[in-house]
Amino acid sequence: MIYDVVVVGGGPSGATAAEDLARAGKRVAMLDKAGRIKPCGGAIPPRLIADFAIPDSQLVAKVNTARMISPTGRAVDIPIENGFVGMVDREHFDEYLRQRAAEAGAERVTGTFLRIERGDTTAVAYRDKATGEERYLPTRLIIGADGARSNVARGEVPGGDTIPYVIAYHEIIRSPEANDRYDPLRCDVIYDGTISPDFYGWVFPHGGQASVGMGTGIDGVDLKAATAALRAASGLSECETIRKEGAPIPLKPLDRWDNGRDVVLAGDAAGVVAPSSGEGIYYAMAGGRVAATAAQAALASGKASDLKLARKLFMKEHKMVFKVLRSMQDAYYKSDERRERFVSLCHDIDVQRLTFEAYMNKKLVRARPMAHLRIGVKNVAHLLRLVPATYG
Ligand SMILES: Cc1cc2nc3c(=O)[nH]c(=O)nc-3n(C[C@H](O)[C@H](O)[C@H](O)COP(=O)(O)OP(=O)(O)OC[C@H]3O[C@@H](n4cnc5c(N)ncnc54)[C@H](O)[C@@H]3O)c2cc1C
Repeated sequence: MIYDVVVVGGGPSGATAAEDLARAGKRVAMLDKAGRIKPCGGAIPPRLIADFAIPDSQLVAKVNTARMISPTGRAVDIPIENGFVGMVDREHFDEYLRQRAAEAGAERVTGTFLRIERGDTTAVAYRDKATGEERYLPTRLIIGADGARSNVARGEVPGGDTIPYVIAYHEIIRSPEANDRYDPLRCDVIYDGTISPDFYGWVFPHGGQASVGMGTGIDGVDLKAATAALRAASGLSECETIRKEGAPIPLKPLDRWDNGRDVVLAGDAAGVVAPSSGEGIYYAMAGGRVAATAAQAALASGKASDLKLARKLFMKEHKMVFKVLRSMQDAYYKSDERRERFVSLCHDIDVQRLTFEAYMNKKLVRARPMAHLRIGVKNVAHLLRLVPATYG
């Protein structure tokens, strides 16, 4: 039996690709090594919930406010209008997606990807988790959705071994009762160089638990010490710690997602996480979807060049948002003075509407032209230091 597609990785990107392909009637296997909960803050936007039909039962919290905290401790609360940010627990969310792919007809295989072998037929070699034996999945195409530091990307796609990362670390804690510092319906985002010199820290509620963490791309930063400081500053030091874990977040989409032959990448494996926010779940699922579309096109036409469609479709929709978020990160994450100014900008109701619309719906909406102009002027005034850092 030769599969049409073997999907390596059963996270949000791989499970989405496998489900889409199975629903389209393709013979698909989804290989996942299993056994590790993906470290993740678990925040997902309404667009994801709608596009990928996520049931309410998967949401462990529905957040209605985002609090931005500046280096001097000023807090700006942004109400989430017309909806909420969903929080998922990756232990259950990923398994739910894998199960859904299996119900659609994808064959689940549990084991570790070893390599791609090419002879008369192409096959994915893997180490079977149950028996420890090396086994093979003969296939026409492969989708590499094996996350940041993807072995498929490293072996198959130019640049796949040199994707830049920030390392993100978080602690899952037992959440306290709601109090004047902790609100189970609020995400806190902390912009403070002592917590993260180049990214940010967060406190995200997950129902009975919470994720508290930070990210950085700078070598030598003590992530555990920074997270301990963040917990202390947020009044969370005494909460029970359930897990401590870290993982890379890629910083830049690869220039190519396919190998021109039989492999296409999706999600973190392709380097696709939004700059500024580090948001990756939506983009992983969107990446899985376009990879499945490209694979179907290539299977139908027999042309490997159709695999390029994945990146093309994705960039058509998300390039502009990535560009804006990248310039935001470059401009405002470089010093505490800039972070202070960034939080000041968040006071502006039009900035709040614009950024949250972009986050919630993954579209840059045309706000009122005068509002755009005003945001632009404020932005320049802050970057040129024409106004005090606390001017909002
Ligand atoms: C600390 C932290 C917090 C984050 N918070 C958020 C957040 O709040 N919201 C958000 O949107 N994003 C967040 N992200 C980013 C998000 O987690 C990722 O972008 C997303 O999980 C990418 O999905 P993926 O399917 O591409 O990869 P992954 O979720 O990493 O899935 C890869 C899968 O491949 C499997 N695999 C890996 N190697 C092999 C192998 N050799 N053989 C077989 N299987 C293999 C793994 O078992 C895994 O199931 C966060 C990331 C980190 C590190």
